[in-house]
Amino acid sequence: MPTAFGLAKIVRMGERGCTTIYEKRVSRSPKARKKQPHEVPGKNGTRLSKHGVTIHCSHCSKGGHNSAGCNLKKMGMSAEEAKALVATTQATLQR
Ligand SMILES: [Zn+2]
Repeated sequence: MPTAFGLAKIVRMGERGCTTIYEKRVSRSPKARKKQPHEVPGKNGTRLSKHGVTIHCSHCSKGGHNSAGCNLKKMGMSAEEAKALVATTQATLQR
């Protein structure tokens, strides 16, 4: 039988063999604690949230949109051409 929350399984040896007693535990189970907002449940435990992070396009590596919403991709530009164009435009804007 699986132990319910807060109950510890204690097996004692009595005169007529084993007797199982369920006693109430003092502390809260570490698995049952309330998770912090940044602890998003992932495949391998908790992972960090992407909240407040600007997404970047995988096609042109520009911020503010992803690959599905990329205008350069829609125009039929290849990833290498798009990345080179964005790099040169950002370099000229910083001058
Ligand atoms: Zn893009």
